[in-house]
Amino acid sequence: MDRGATLREALLKAVAETIDRHAEELTALDQAIGDGDHGINMKRGFEAALADSANLVPKPWPDFLKGVGMTLVMKVGGASGPLFGTFFLTLGKELPAEPGQADIVRAIRAAIVAVQARGKSERGQKTLLDVMIPVVEALEAGEADLTRLVGVANGAVDATKPIRAIRGRASFLGDRSIGHIDPGARSSALMIAAVAQVLKEVA
Ligand code: ADP
Ligand code: MG
Repeated sequence: MDRGATLREALLKAVAETIDRHAEELTALDQAIGDGDHGINMKRGFEAALADSANLVPKPWPDFLKGVGMTLVMKVGGASGPLFGTFFLTLGKELPAEPGQADIVRAIRAAIVAVQARGKSERGQKTLLDVMIPVVEALEAGEADLTRLVGVANGAVDATKPIRAIRGRASFLGDRSIGHIDPGARSSALMIAAVAQVLKEVA
């Protein structure tokens, strides 16, 4: 395998593993303010992507990411499936085959804009965007330290607690959504931490 394929395989495995290991926690978070399916939804999606690893990993970055996105759209379900699916599909559309640092940051921003369009949502509504947006802002500001970026993501997860949900199922609870972490925010931070860990290991 070439270097790119080795990295793609490691990233897919690491993300799928962290989602698998935290599936119960994600489910518990979604039980508090949703319908309790977020852990199982995400686990099903990433298990399917991992099962298709031999097909996905040899593809160049754009096709690999589009393949992961399609799998998530088809397998995760719920609100989060199309949203995370859109994220990866757009990353795949926006990235050149041999992306550099600036391409990656620009593609992540484009992917978030696509998620916002799909979810008709913005920052501050207690969703996965409340992690994605602060992290891309840090990247755009030139932050390149992976540990600090993971810190931004984890801080952003905690910061979803006091927010009153105004998108997704949690919004049905109104004020009762206050005081709970958003499940999609937590799964986003888990994925970011897994990616950062792999990138640290190859650096
Ligand atoms: P469902 O809510 O359909 O059961 P999941 O439980 O898998 O789907 O995912 C819930 C997560 O999806 C929430 O925690 C939130 O982060 C995210 N989410 C839901 N609706 C939106 C939206 N309109 N925009 C952005 N994120 C959303
Ligand atoms: Mg749910």
